[in-house]
Amino acid sequence: MEKICRHYCTGCALCVSVCPCNAISMVSDAEGFWKPQVDASCCIDCGLCQKYCPGNTDVPIAAAADCGQKFFAAWNKNRKIRDASSSGGVFSALAEAVLKSHGAVFGVRFDREYGAKFDFCENLEDLPPFRGSKYVQCYAGGVYPEVKKILDSGRKVLFSGSPCQVAALRSYLKKDFDNLFCVDIICHGVPSPQVFLRYLREQEKSSGSKITDMKFRDKSTGWDCFGTEISYADGRKNWSFAQQNPYMAGFLHDIFIGMHCHNCRYTSLRRTGDLTIADFWGYIPTLRHPFYWHGVSQVIVNSLRGTELLSMAERDLCLISKKKSEASQTEHSLARPFAPDPHRQEFFADFNAGIPFMDIMQKYFPTASDAGRFCLYRRVVRRAKNLVPANLKAAAKKFLGKHRRG
Ligand SMILES: Cc1cc2nc3c(=O)[nH]c(=O)nc-3n(C[C@H](O)[C@H](O)[C@H](O)COP(=O)(O)OP(=O)(O)OC[C@H]3O[C@@H](n4cnc5c(N)ncnc54)[C@H](O)[C@@H]3O)c2cc1C
Ligand code: SF4
Ligand code: SF4
Ligand code: SF4
Repeated sequence: MEKICRHYCTGCALCVSVCPCNAISMVSDAEGFWKPQVDASCCIDCGLCQKYCPGNTDVPIAAAADCGQKFFAAWNKNRKIRDASSSGGVFSALAEAVLKSHGAVFGVRFDREYGAKFDFCENLEDLPPFRGSKYVQCYAGGVYPEVKKILDSGRKVLFSGSPCQVAALRSYLKKDFDNLFCVDIICHGVPSPQVFLRYLREQEKSSGSKITDMKFRDKSTGWDCFGTEISYADGRKNWSFAQQNPYMAGFLHDIFIGMHCHNCRYTSLRRTGDLTIADFWGYIPTLRHPFYWHGVSQVIVNSLRGTELLSMAERDLCLISKKKSEASQTEHSLARPFAPDPHRQEFFADFNAGIPFMDIMQKYFPTASDAGRFCLYRRVVRRAKNLVPANLKAAAKKFLGKHRRG
């Protein structure tokens, strides 16, 4: 077995679950991303891992021509849940609907050992850790057989993850289940878990206390500030603006995102999830709904199963129908993968030389501190942009494009 994946391996860990000889395990690669390692002495060359790997097949599309895509701006009517979520809190409304019908919810939670990992919950009290984006590649070992076990018992399952993980689940199951609802996110890319873990360990050392949680999208100063909050075992909390926090600054500048993400096959409207959820950055407030700074999600309905799931959660959501052009035009991650930062290679050379994370970041982002002003500027620009009608923006773009070319 030379190589499992013909494309860039996303670290989905599906091959681990299909190998009949337990010959595959997930290990950290040279940049600290999860990658499969085959123990040649156990491998019987059956080829199953290559056959199932989503990198060797076409992208599985949920829509199966059963419905046209529909676009919505949406948020959770419960203000506390909305504030605790990354954008509008749609994930929580969907998850609650499935849990209330005695189903199970699979999603990603913070984990001190792995950075983030897939897990599942079966009751409402256990849902909070699954809320919110975790900006790190999550460990997905063993999740697909767990999903299948619950599906086979006839209970509903909500599976929420990145498009490549939803593709992996669909490949593992091979057949369609009426009781499965897949939700994917519009995905910018995931940072290296080992980079994240080195950052966490350095914070723990300097603070003298263990980290129990990290919030990447705290909204105390507004939805669009990406406030970062670290919670320590001794009760302390450390809060910073994203651009002030070296880890978030590195993520937003794409300096330690996976190469598989810079070559992502899922940056289009051909979605693997029955529903797609994302930030609705281009949301234009209306007189009826002027308050959007607690967060607005974009929801794309990709299949009849997606319509069914959304209707199960409808009571808890404020849903506003949008045109495709309004919903997708501001979304880079639907058009093409993000390009790596020019210093990406140097960053990983320094990282592998054992240089402390904070020292490397000081080298590449020495001025990542004037965050308050940066954030205010970003908010003012974004809010001003959102108030300009879409047709005026399109006309201005056309005019500028013509004059730049000319
Ligand atoms: C790594 C990453 C990149 C993203 N990039 C973009 C982007 O470019 N543009 C955009 O509009 N939106 C992006 N999002 C999605 C966005 O930030 C919100 O997650 C989404 O809008 C749903 O928010 P919510 O308030 O409804 O629910 P939330 O409660 O915030 O949703 C959390 C959901 O995200 C899933 N999730 C969290 N972390 C991970 C992870 N590491 N890997 C896989 N799944 C995860 C959980 O399973 C959960 O279902 C990204 C999210 C992540 C995790
Ligand atoms: S199945 Fe997933 S983890 Fe395994 S080689 Fe393919 S992409 Fe990589
Ligand atoms: S070829 Fe078969 S035995 Fe070998 S690693 Fe792949 S799945 Fe396992
Ligand atoms: S950017 Fe693409 S490859 Fe990377 S985690 Fe997201 S969906 Fe997967």
